[in-house]
Amino acid sequence: MAITDQRADLHAHTTASDGMLAPGALVRLAAQAGLAAVAVTDHDTTAGVDEALAEGARLGVEVVPGIEISAYADDQAIHVLGYCMDLGDADWQRRIEGLRGGRQRRNEQIVARLNALGIALTMEQVRRIAGKAGTAEETLGRPHIAAALVACGAAASVTDAFERYLGSGCAAYVAIPRLSPHEAVGWIREAGGAAVIAHPGLYRRDDLVERLLRGGAAGLEVSHPDHDGEDERRYRALAERCGAIATAGSDFHGEREGGAYHGALGSRSVPVEVLRRIARACGDAT
Ligand code: AMP
Ligand code: ZN
Ligand code: FE
Ligand code: FE
Repeated sequence: MAITDQRADLHAHTTASDGMLAPGALVRLAAQAGLAAVAVTDHDTTAGVDEALAEGARLGVEVVPGIEISAYADDQAIHVLGYCMDLGDADWQRRIEGLRGGRQRRNEQIVARLNALGIALTMEQVRRIAGKAGTAEETLGRPHIAAALVACGAAASVTDAFERYLGSGCAAYVAIPRLSPHEAVGWIREAGGAAVIAHPGLYRRDDLVERLLRGGAAGLEVSHPDHDGEDERRYRALAERCGAIATAGSDFHGEREGGAYHGALGSRSVPVEVLRRIARACGDAT
């Protein structure tokens, strides 16, 4: 295969957060899909990276160590992808651990709100459901709470659980004080990595996205399953205007209730040359 045909999917989740496949299984699927590289970008954790790297070495798939940090701007979640951080960096580890502590407290508050609404759900039930899927306890999220709501009969489906209880603005929605996207970009750069703003089409905050690109983020996720053709054109132009790297990722989470949430692995990808540009943008923190 010519080098230009080698593709990288730069956004995928595993059971280290709310994906359905273990890290090794994700890499095996990447190999089957013909990908040359896949980035493991779990929510607020890099716990899946080592297993993925080992499987990647075995199968000849390049695994890019990554993360997807949930940051907030004015109570709106802004996701920041980080690539190739020094995972052994003590400050980095402390910071990410702090994020997970906040996530756990938020989950408890969500369950308390559900209880106040008359739904008898416990964190223990959520943990059990997540545990069955092989998820690490420390990175439980709303999808696991949604699955528990389905299991106890309080919701018809995960989508229904988000629409009625867990989605932004719903009765059991809890926004916790968190780091800003600017801080997330800073953390990633200070750990020697490169930051990419995830799925900008989901925020409709192009002003903020532009400031992030001019303020240290190396790239913009231009191609994402939740973007339509118009979004993609607009964000490609924005990336170009800011001198940012245009990236692509499927945001693969595995199959849920019969469908891929968000995209199938490899359904969005960049040539591996883009990965080299990201590598060159790493570790340039000032
Ligand atoms: P959290 O990080 O715990 O707040 O959970 C956010 C995650 O929930 C997102 O990254 C998605 O993976 C998932 N999610 C958000 N909205 C929905 C939805 N309507 N249906 C299923 N999963 C969703
Ligand atoms: Zn997710
Ligand atoms: Fe995201
Ligand atoms: Fe994601």
